Amino acid sequence: MSSDQPTPLWYDKGLNFSCVPGCRRCCGGSPGYVWVTDEEIAGIAQLMQLSLEAFERLYVRTINRGFEIRKSLKEQRNYDCILLDEKGCSVYAARPSQCRTYPFWPELLDTEADWESEKNRCPGLGNGELHPAPKLVEILNTQKYKK
Ligand code: SF4
Ligand code: SF4
Repeated sequence: MSSDQPTPLWYDKGLNFSCVPGCRRCCGGSPGYVWVTDEEIAGIAQLMQLSLEAFERLYVRTINRGFEIRKSLKEQRNYDCILLDEKGCSVYAARPSQCRTYPFWPELLDTEADWESEKNRCPGLGNGELHPAPKLVEILNTQKYKK
């Protein structure tokens, strides 16, 4: 292959994924962060008909990672996302990019092994809708933050 050929993606035939109805596994169950930008906070606050101030006080925590300070949604005592209720995500229409883009995160598409390993966590991986490679690349390019 000549050196100016693009490196083939391991997922160049696309990837199957559909969220499993009733599953809520990626919304909690263990400690983690759901990163939110100020724009996303404003969108969720608007959906919940809360002021920014009230929303941030009730639902947002500030995380100092040493090299940067970021905002994450709070967790419930069982580590579920604070916005998860018995029916699922209570702000689904305005959920943060991190939630919208899962499972097409850079760290999960880095290698096929990463993707396969995530199947232990998410039963929707490898099943359902076929997402073509160009769409996956587009989704990857929209992600501002890496976990
Ligand atoms: S773990 Fe997978 S199947 Fe379950 S809610 Fe999350 S995306 Fe859907
Ligand atoms: S914002 Fe919604 S989709 Fe995202 S982790 Fe919380 S409950 Fe799940």
